[in-house]
Amino acid sequence: MKPLINDLTLQELTESITKTGEPAYRAKQIWQMVYKQLIAEPSEFSNLSKEFRTKLDEQFCFLPLKVEKDLKSSDEQTNKLLFRLQDNRMIESVLMRYKERNTICISTQVGCPMNCAFCATGQMGFLRNLSAGEIVAQVLFFASMLKSEGLKLTNIVIMGMGEPFHNYDAVMKAIGIINDPDGMNFGERRITISTVGIIPRIEQFTAAKRQINLAVSLHAPSNTIRDKIIPANRKYPIDSLLEACRNYTEKTGRRITFEYALIHGLNDNYENAVQLCKRLKGMLCHVNLIPLNSTEKYAGSGSNHDRTQSFKSVLDKNGIPCSVRLKRGIDIGAGCGQLLAEQNKQE
Ligand code: SAH
Repeated sequence: MKPLINDLTLQELTESITKTGEPAYRAKQIWQMVYKQLIAEPSEFSNLSKEFRTKLDEQFCFLPLKVEKDLKSSDEQTNKLLFRLQDNRMIESVLMRYKERNTICISTQVGCPMNCAFCATGQMGFLRNLSAGEIVAQVLFFASMLKSEGLKLTNIVIMGMGEPFHNYDAVMKAIGIINDPDGMNFGERRITISTVGIIPRIEQFTAAKRQINLAVSLHAPSNTIRDKIIPANRKYPIDSLLEACRNYTEKTGRRITFEYALIHGLNDNYENAVQLCKRLKGMLCHVNLIPLNSTEKYAGSGSNHDRTQSFKSVLDKNGIPCSVRLKRGIDIGAGCGQLLAEQNKQE
């Protein structure tokens, strides 16, 4: 298999190009075509000679994602893409257009090893990590799709298939590539990483002092409840997890987001809300409440409107900033935790 161009930083690309006898500035020309002009194929790199374009095509893979399916929600605001990777594995990613925001939700692994009970990706098991370039390629795909509509990509959430902190180096490298000022120059502040709560990586991330937003999938106020739905809680129990989160906010001065999927009768009563408030008191945080989306292999269901609002009102009274997240793309299975490559489902 040819090396994927998106796996390389500008510096690595420069090294690779100069080794084949080309001048260093050629690397920057390629970089600008790919990351500024959002042109995917070297045959369309009009600033380069035909010979060099052919040479590039022979040397690198430029299109690692083949569109297998492109589903549009009934309101036409959300697209769910099923991509085939070079090794024929599949991943899904989502684009949500909403008011001034065009947000993409991208994947970091094929499947996921964390095995959260309610999550469709977890239910399919873990196949492999994505490379930095495969993560970058998802961003480029949607950036160019939006460009063709006269729109711009504004936000990236790393909340698709997989556990980003279980593929930490590739995720950070991918962010470095799209953040590069000579290329896409996509600001870290417009990127959010969501983790199930892998403590050593939260500590590493804290020390790195990046501008990227951090979200943690809490989903429960106690070990008793969290153990039932998130196997990782046995290794990283809630007290140590929240200590790492508190430390993150104190060291970086940045607010942390907690995701809380409301599951009817499991984690959504008054006591659960009170216990959650006690745990989060005084922390620089925001809680995203989202009624669980149904998935095939999990019997639990999302809390109804009244229970959701009652839960929220306890947080409001206790001064814990929170919001109820909008459900988008449910009709095409593009909601949180619903991503699962159809092909794998059929196998
Ligand atoms: N592995 C990462 C990111 C992927 S999932 C993580 O655990 O954070 C992104 C978010 O969707 C997480 O908060 C996850 O817990 C949540 N989620 C998964 N399945 C869901 C479902 N069925 N309904 C609602 N949210 C779900």
